[in-house]
Amino acid sequence: MKYFPIDKFRSIETPFYFYDIALLRKTLDAAVTEAAKYNYHIHYAVKANANPRILSIISGQGVGADCVSGGEIQAALNAGFPCGKIVFAGVGKADWEINVGLDHDIFCFNVESIPELEVINYWAGSKGKTAGIALRINPDVDAHTHSHITTGTKEDKFGIHLDQLDEVLKLLKSLPFLKLLGLHFHIGSQITDKEPFLLLCKRANEIQTRLSEQQIKIEHINFGGGLGIDYEHPDDHPIPDFKEYFELFHTHFPVFPHQEVHFEPGRSIVGQCGSLISKTLYVKEGSEKTFVILDAGFTELIRPALYDAYHFIENLSSEQPLETYEVVGPICESSDCFAKQIELNRTSRGDLLAIRSSGAYGEIMASQYNCRQLPKAYFSDLLE
Ligand SMILES: *Cc1c(COP(=O)(O)O)cnc(C)c1O
Repeated sequence: MKYFPIDKFRSIETPFYFYDIALLRKTLDAAVTEAAKYNYHIHYAVKANANPRILSIISGQGVGADCVSGGEIQAALNAGFPCGKIVFAGVGKADWEINVGLDHDIFCFNVESIPELEVINYWAGSKGKTAGIALRINPDVDAHTHSHITTGTKEDKFGIHLDQLDEVLKLLKSLPFLKLLGLHFHIGSQITDKEPFLLLCKRANEIQTRLSEQQIKIEHINFGGGLGIDYEHPDDHPIPDFKEYFELFHTHFPVFPHQEVHFEPGRSIVGQCGSLISKTLYVKEGSEKTFVILDAGFTELIRPALYDAYHFIENLSSEQPLETYEVVGPICESSDCFAKQIELNRTSRGDLLAIRSSGAYGEIMASQYNCRQLPKAYFSDLLE
């Protein structure tokens, strides 16, 4: 399944992102097909990868978009996502961003605090509109993932805490330009265990029961994103198990009649289709370690530096015996290290390395630190 046109890579300036579009389409197809079995709605989380071509391929599949900024709403609209399928989350929505959402009549604001409700109500009223909102509930579920990417426990800044729910519902009665559409959850990212999702279903059931006792009907439930990918073995598991994922929610979250269920996958859609391709500048013998120094650094892919993330790395140019290396970038920071003590086919200056599973939170998080250029992207189907 793996596809790397190395001959073509040789004439492209490194470092660059390479996207396997056939894999992206298969992944999307799997997600859409499995979700459709239960009439679940998908809103792709734009923050995982907002490359315009990737976005338009995804919007072409008929899914919606989950945005976390005004810029992302703009990017989603430019890529052809329909306004009526855009949801907008984020703890700190600026007034102009709220207005972008209102002006385009997006489907729903996923609201994260009481003051935000008041601000959206104010702007909606000033335009004579009603804003659809969902309450983002912090369900206090630990996703057992890296502390920087867990979002659903009491200590996190995200969402409205369960203790405040009654107060919020009371307040909503005095905010005439808001329409409560439903509840929203997002407990974290790169979740590879079933347990956090099971707990999430349990919490959603409890909250829903509590609300129905107050005669409040929740038409839309949004479970957010978070499904993880296999960073260790990208070739064994190029497509996440969407079947098992949606089946879990179907089994453990019984829907009320007329209730609609939404998901916001990001990483699981785009993660495996992207690789960062980089050239070996130097192989340097240290006193204890041998360093492979690449022309890519955390400016192109920050996940290892930011979250200690592991990416499988392979040498596309060598079939020599394996040796142990420390793979680092050129940036003047010690955290600019892609992998410690990994095995690669014997590596020499000029060899092309692929840092795999970089399609999510890769290109979009690139920076110009050290006055570097932002990386370009190339697509498998346009290299023919
Ligand atoms: C980041 C985010 C997502 C996507 O998370 P993934 O782990 O990439 O699937 C979905 N919803 C919200 C609100 C987010 O912030």
